[in-house]
Amino acid sequence: MRIADLYAAGGDPVLSLEFFTPKNDAGRSALFRAIERLAAIEPGFVSITCGAAGTTRERTADLAIEIQREHGLTAMAHLVCTGTTQTELDETLRHMRDNGIENILALRGDPPKGVSDWTPVEGGFRHANELAEFVRARFSLGIGGACYPEKHHEAPSLEADIANLKRKVDAGAEFLITQLFFDNEKYWRFVDLVRAEGIEVPIVPGIMPVLSLTNLQRIASLSPGTTIPETLEGSLREAGDDDDASLQAGVDFAAAQCRALLHKGAPGIHFYTLNRSKATLRTVAQL
Ligand code: FAD
Repeated sequence: MRIADLYAAGGDPVLSLEFFTPKNDAGRSALFRAIERLAAIEPGFVSITCGAAGTTRERTADLAIEIQREHGLTAMAHLVCTGTTQTELDETLRHMRDNGIENILALRGDPPKGVSDWTPVEGGFRHANELAEFVRARFSLGIGGACYPEKHHEAPSLEADIANLKRKVDAGAEFLITQLFFDNEKYWRFVDLVRAEGIEVPIVPGIMPVLSLTNLQRIASLSPGTTIPETLEGSLREAGDDDDASLQAGVDFAAAQCRALLHKGAPGIHFYTLNRSKATLRTVAQL
């Protein structure tokens, strides 16, 4: 199933789930437990991130193939340019296509840990639009891309970032998934600016039900531009070290955020699950 067709079908909003590629067997077991539980929400698709500066590329592809085959879910693999040549990307894309994968998320990727500036490898791509173009020219695959309602941290302005986003969509990205955000006004302002530039593809909100104050502080440090509402931080502080109360505070906030987004016409919700099921299941139960 091409993911763009799910959004185009115009039925119920599409709920989708993001998982990361686990590092070891224990992580793998936890992931598959989460997938079995989350199957109850009947996700339109699931996506599998490509970690550690592109080095999980083959494992990410194999995991997407396994999830799609064994669990009957449409699985999209994230593919990054970081540290990867065109030849390697081509091999992975062939492997996925030959094993039934129909969608990829075309990304530039982050630099390796400890490296501040992103640089391409020789024979690799510099930006996600180049990867999208490459995939479109050689493969009949659905292509998604990333976008940033509060601006990508390297872009000089939101307007410049949106101009670059247009290149990605013109190169073949059929839908966009946002970086996580907590302030819906930022999302709707971004949608308005993007539409004004003639970009018509679905812009899917990426939402993470926060698990704890520590989790929120980690998000704030990893994504410095993300607006953190005082109400969310306050309710997590109030929950103190009561894990379940913290989880519930994160869920209540995420559920209210998702309800408002869907009510105003968002095409679906993409949940950042952190390979866990409880927070997403509780959030969806409140929609
Ligand atoms: P690009 O679209 O290439 O943009 C990067 C920067 O370059 C932006 O500032 C943009 O304005 C600018 N730019 C874009 N195109 C051009 C151009 N043609 N010329 C000049 N400037 C340009 N990272 C991972 O490592 N693995 C993952 O699995 C992963 N999954 C993600 C999923 C989602 C939904 C999101 C939102 C992000 C994900 N990321 C992942 C993080 C992402 O890789 C980083 O944020 C990265 O820094 C940018 O990737 P991009 O694809 O948006 O890059």
